[in-house]
Amino acid sequence: MARLDRDRLEQEEARAQRRRARLEKHAVPCPHCGKSVLDHMTRCPYCGGALVPKGYAPMDEQKKRRLRTVGYAVGTVVAVVIVLLILFLK
Ligand SMILES: [Zn+2]
Repeated sequence: MARLDRDRLEQEEARAQRRRARLEKHAVPCPHCGKSVLDHMTRCPYCGGALVPKGYAPMDEQKKRRLRTVGYAVGTVVAVVIVLLILFLK
């Protein structure tokens, strides 16, 4: 019984350690105050300074336009298919 409890405690400890390691991987110093913040944050919780999240890149206009065109095309096709289905299933 006591052995089982210890095993569980060790498992919990290992899990907590993995969680900490994961968080530390995402910890970066704030460029404004130098405190440790997470790399997905957009604002420092300590000094309120603006942060640029890792992996964030504003989409360029051309890509945005192309995505919008594809979106409209897909939307139109889906709408036509739905209308056809309604007409033919009557
Ligand atoms: Zn800060």
